[in-house]
Amino acid sequence: MISVIAFAREDAKALGLKRFFTGERCKQGHVAERYTINGCCVACNLERASHYHKTEHAREVKSRLRREPRVGPGGANEGACQASWRDQ
Ligand SMILES: [Zn+2]
Repeated sequence: MISVIAFAREDAKALGLKRFFTGERCKQGHVAERYTINGCCVACNLERASHYHKTEHAREVKSRLRREPRVGPGGANEGACQASWRDQ
């Protein structure tokens, strides 16, 4: 049997962990780890990423990034993701 320790995001930050687990469901109903950096559900992030990479916009961004490397941490969705974390 696997035992899971529930972690608060602040504890994970203090320990320098990249991900933590609360045991609570996200808005989409996943019981999954969350990223310490932004509080986003890992399963949601994977779903969003797999959906996004099929879009025309993703293909445009990929071709643009080959010419201009990304600048700075996070991305365009970082603020939005933090907002949804606070709403829960
Ligand atoms: Zn989720």
